[in-house]
Amino acid sequence: MRGLLTLKDLSTETIIDLIEYAIKLKNGYKVSYPNKKVATLFYENSTRTHYSFQCALINLGINVLQCDTNSSSVQKGESLYDTVKTFESLGVDGIVIRSSQDEYFKELENIKIPIFNGGDGKTNHPTQSLLDLMTIYEEYGKFEGLKCCIIGDIVHSRVAHTNIEIMKRLGMEVYISGPEEYNDNSSTFIPFEEAIATMDVIMLLRVQFERHTESMSMSVNEYHKTYGLTLERVSKMKPSAIIMHPAPVNRGVEIADDVVECSKSRIFKQMTNGVYIRMAAISYAMDGKL
Ligand code: ASP
Repeated sequence: MRGLLTLKDLSTETIIDLIEYAIKLKNGYKVSYPNKKVATLFYENSTRTHYSFQCALINLGINVLQCDTNSSSVQKGESLYDTVKTFESLGVDGIVIRSSQDEYFKELENIKIPIFNGGDGKTNHPTQSLLDLMTIYEEYGKFEGLKCCIIGDIVHSRVAHTNIEIMKRLGMEVYISGPEEYNDNSSTFIPFEEAIATMDVIMLLRVQFERHTESMSMSVNEYHKTYGLTLERVSKMKPSAIIMHPAPVNRGVEIADDVVECSKSRIFKQMTNGVYIRMAAISYAMDGKL
């Protein structure tokens, strides 16, 4: 299949190339595909991924067809495959998809146009991981030997699952922390306070209530008290360490209001980088390299 579905399909060499190309685009390099059309199909809520894909497409001179999943034939029971096949038949050159179904793209094996995965269930979020990696690379200029702890609702997080695999492959030490009820053993678990004091990258996650089947065992206030990143905890971080979060952030839960834009936070930089990394991935696909 073409496009970008999961980072497991990409070599580390291609990942570094994409990051370096995104940095080149950020520095002003121009590339344009004026006769191309790409559709966006979001079956789950999204602000950053949806609109940064759209900004990326506009920046590349590509026409965007924003499919309203509430008014399309999906509501008449059409399958994902038939919807995507329809866009392919209309002459669309690529399609961005987000779905709550894990690995929905396995149904789309016969589709020839590139598909860009905007997130599937709890499994993959490849462009989010690439923008996270780009942000780390801009900060440290390397991956090898860096320590990152992902903190929070790991079990429901496609961001955590994608990042753990790729960060380890790039030579980083990756840990997880936060409430024991969200520990799915996808990496080594360490105590929260130890993570704060020893990591190069603290990556926070929101509690993803919409994916829960049972309610959280503690109150939101208790969560903040025990696992929230407050300015006091930030003062215990390594001087060079940074804070990341895929957002949306829940201020006053996993992160204190005044930490969101503190000097260690790279949260809004991640969003900016998301546009360039998506431009890089789309440009690669339009050139037949993905
Ligand atoms: N925006 C990220 C995602 O789509 C993280 C989140 O929703 O908490 O997975």
